[in-house]
Amino acid sequence: MLVRVLGSAAGGGFPQWNCGCPGCRAVRDGSRPCSPRTQSSLAVSADGEQWVLINASPDVRAQIEATPALRPDGARATPLRAVLLTDAELDHSLGLLLLREARSWQLHTTASVHDTLREGNSVLPTVRAYCPVQWREVVPGADVPLGNGLTYRAFDVPTTKRSRFGTERGPGRVVGYRITDVGSGRAVALLPGVQEITDEVLAQLQDCSCVFVDGTCWRDDEMPRLGLASKTSREMGHVPMSGPGGSLERLADLRAERKIYVHLNNTNPVLLEDSPERREVERRGFEVATDGMEVRFHHDSTR
Ligand SMILES: [Zn+2]
Ligand SMILES: [Zn+2]
Repeated sequence: MLVRVLGSAAGGGFPQWNCGCPGCRAVRDGSRPCSPRTQSSLAVSADGEQWVLINASPDVRAQIEATPALRPDGARATPLRAVLLTDAELDHSLGLLLLREARSWQLHTTASVHDTLREGNSVLPTVRAYCPVQWREVVPGADVPLGNGLTYRAFDVPTTKRSRFGTERGPGRVVGYRITDVGSGRAVALLPGVQEITDEVLAQLQDCSCVFVDGTCWRDDEMPRLGLASKTSREMGHVPMSGPGGSLERLADLRAERKIYVHLNNTNPVLLEDSPERREVERRGFEVATDGMEVRFHHDSTR
């Protein structure tokens, strides 16, 4: 199984066009060691030939071009088979509009996310004016074969974040995915957005070879401290890395071969490779994703 990090930044990217926070300044002027990053998206494949996309960011066109395995191998023959969304956030769904040139593709979302894409932000009716999209409802807990050597199981990720569009109802506004390679039995967990790592969420991450987890903010009050926004990380739907109940603490005992932070906001000091926060994350056994990072698990019987 292969997982490719197409984009490792949170919404806005790194740097963000209208931001002059210390991180955005450093990546623009090269004054600190750090790399630019596009907005959050992952691609997963069993064999390197057929791929599914986890979230479609506004940077999807450049991300596909930057990834030889995702380029077409014949006339309009894309190796992308399906798009799975974790939620209806614009930084995860605007890329659907940019896939409108396809003949068709499969979209997997919960009913709640589908409602928002249809009635809330109108992303889906707009794409459908160009390209038939086959929607498949994601039902948390159900095992779904993707038909290319992979199966997935979504799990609900509770959130109290208020919806901007007001159409999302009940559970299923945010999910994480466990994707299993049928051939090897290995699983990866994809969790780019999680407000709290509850015991139920933690249980879904057990026995995974690798977890890709929400790395939006280092501190809960990161944005207010920088004077950039009034909302805390948790209020924006993202558990911070540090502090009580933070992801470093909650995932400390998780037995995965690799624990990788994705969806990094441009304010997060771990993006700066010489920061004490980055050193702490690495000391605790976590990695910070970069664009283009590839994680590969071979077919074998050991986990
Ligand atoms: Zn996001
Ligand atoms: Zn910034």
